[in-house]
Amino acid sequence: MKILVTGGAGFIGSAVTRHIIKNTSDSVINLDKLTYAGNLQSLEHIEKSDRYTFEQVDICDRAELDRVFKQHTPDAVMHLAAESHVDRSITGPAEFIQTNIVGTYTLLEAAREYWNTLDDSAKLAFRFHHISTDEVYGDLPHPDEQDDNAFDKELPLFTEQTSYAPSSPYSASKASSDHLVRAWLRTYGFPTIVTNCSNNYGPYHFPEKLIPLVILNALEGKDLPVYGKGDQIRDWLYVEDHARALYKVVTEGKVGETYNIGGHNEKQNIEVVQTICSILDELVPKKPKYAEQIMFVNDRPGHDRRYAIDSSKMSKELNWTPIETFETGLRKTVQWYLDNQQWCQNVQSGSYQRERLGQINTKTQGE
Ligand code: NAD
Repeated sequence: MKILVTGGAGFIGSAVTRHIIKNTSDSVINLDKLTYAGNLQSLEHIEKSDRYTFEQVDICDRAELDRVFKQHTPDAVMHLAAESHVDRSITGPAEFIQTNIVGTYTLLEAAREYWNTLDDSAKLAFRFHHISTDEVYGDLPHPDEQDDNAFDKELPLFTEQTSYAPSSPYSASKASSDHLVRAWLRTYGFPTIVTNCSNNYGPYHFPEKLIPLVILNALEGKDLPVYGKGDQIRDWLYVEDHARALYKVVTEGKVGETYNIGGHNEKQNIEVVQTICSILDELVPKKPKYAEQIMFVNDRPGHDRRYAIDSSKMSKELNWTPIETFETGLRKTVQWYLDNQQWCQNVQSGSYQRERLGQINTKTQGE
């Protein structure tokens, strides 16, 4: 297969691209605008493969998308290009509306026009796989909200039937893009599949997100900011497990279906930060211990309290389960950041220096 991966220079897109080039005989056309979040250095181990091509293109640029489809004639699209950071979406939502909604619409139209030119068997085999997030579902009840008599009741999980109720400009823009993809299937018979995944972590994660930010701040002796009480719960999935799941979906998934992907690893943010501190205490010991750097700061506006995924459809229908536990995956991740300080320095060479984003009523509001 020739797979057009959008956002292939980003965190998950680069893991998908590395997975395909290393473990299959398929080819990847990586289409990426290279925003602050896109880094070709994340692909240096596979970029020399003759099954890998890079196109620096914006998914909002219809003429360029038409050229890429015509030139590379892909058998499938895996669409990951997006603005992805909730705090940035609070500070400046415009880019999120543009890339995540207008960009997805533009890509859908370019892909559909190309698909219409294919012969019947290629048309039948073609897939447009839209990669989305569990954040479109809003948040779930938190254990703190349970009354005392409900202690033995299992808390609900997000399933493929959960209604959409996004809370942030980021999740609302992703929800909009999911709706567009579904409409293109229903109205035009365009062969789409959607996946909604929980929080990813692992190597090559841009250091604005919780786990890499905490690792790097800890090593530099800086504060480790924890929003609110740190009791927000996320369901963490190692990025390479996600990449394997996505490849299974694009090759074996059924057209028109949605698949939820998660790690069965519900952790409070504070637990995540404390676990990183203990791993660092072991690997790079110092006094005082890293946990002394933890600093509780104002919560994120509209912060969702709990996400957790029921991924039983993925395991039953596509025989996928995660390989890494949170403990093994987090240890690998911390070690990767210790071994790849140069990558961290290179990707942070712009104006962003891990400062706090996404607070409202500050000077940056609306910028
Ligand atoms: P990322 O921010 O690391 O990477 C996004 C990539 O898209 C970058 O390489 C960037 O250059 C590229 N891009 C941005 N705007 C573009 C445009 N207009 N045209 C072309 N390329 C553009 O994001 P990520 O964490 O790798 O997430 C990838 C996808 O997975 C996103 O759609 C996100 O919503 C979804 N997702 C992420 C997570 C997570 O935990 N990170 C979880 C579930 C789903």
